[in-house]
Amino acid sequence: SSCQDDEVSKAQTAQKLNQQPTIFSKIVDKKIPADIIFEDNQCVVFRDVNPQGPVHFLVVPRKPIPGLSDVQDGDELLLGHLLIVAKKMAEKEKLLDGYRLVINNGRHGAQSVHHLHIHVIGGRQMNWPPG
Ligand code: C5P
Repeated sequence: SSCQDDEVSKAQTAQKLNQQPTIFSKIVDKKIPADIIFEDNQCVVFRDVNPQGPVHFLVVPRKPIPGLSDVQDGDELLLGHLLIVAKKMAEKEKLLDGYRLVINNGRHGAQSVHHLHIHVIGGRQMNWPPG
């Protein structure tokens, strides 16, 4: 039933939450270093250590949500805020000709760090479809 599905999904989320703190929680808590370019009370923005373009940074909520599939209705304002920060930081990084936002989710999405993050990549021509 959909109720059981909901229980399964809650259990999976709980299991992923038990894997916290991830490396991104440690960066957010300043326990390990990162090249932080912006932060506020809801998120931290830092440069990706393995950049896929001349500019590549990650917008990471302080709240340790494992992935987009774990987001709840109550996270609506937070998600909107992350997009606004991504847009403002893209401007600050002078990505005037455009840029790419990516959220990898789960196995097929090739997500490797289970703490929600938005990639912002720019400074070169992107292609479509992605690999
Ligand atoms: O695939 P996923 O969206 O989970 O990507 C995680 C990203 O986090 C990778 O681009 C990786 O280079 C980056 N990363 C980082 N600093 C770390 C660990 C991972 O920027 N300490």
